[in-house]
Amino acid sequence: MPCKGNCIQHKAIKPNDGTGRYSAGQKRCNTCEVFLYWSGIKCPCCKTRLRVKPKSSKFKNNSQGINK
Ligand SMILES: [Zn+2]
Ligand SMILES: [Zn+2]
Repeated sequence: MPCKGNCIQHKAIKPNDGTGRYSAGQKRCNTCEVFLYWSGIKCPCCKTRLRVKPKSSKFKNNSQGINK
């Protein structure tokens, strides 16, 4: 199903403390192209299965480099 615009009501803002969106509990809808605060496994807007992890499996907290 296409985006119907309902996802705006659940849209998550980017964490400003340096934590990742996924670690902040946000989920990604690839159809709506938006991050959501949503407890379900499917998008409340388009019913697409939400992504709960980053694509890369190398997602580790390396204290080198960006540290803010
Ligand atoms: Zn949507
Ligand atoms: Zn969606």
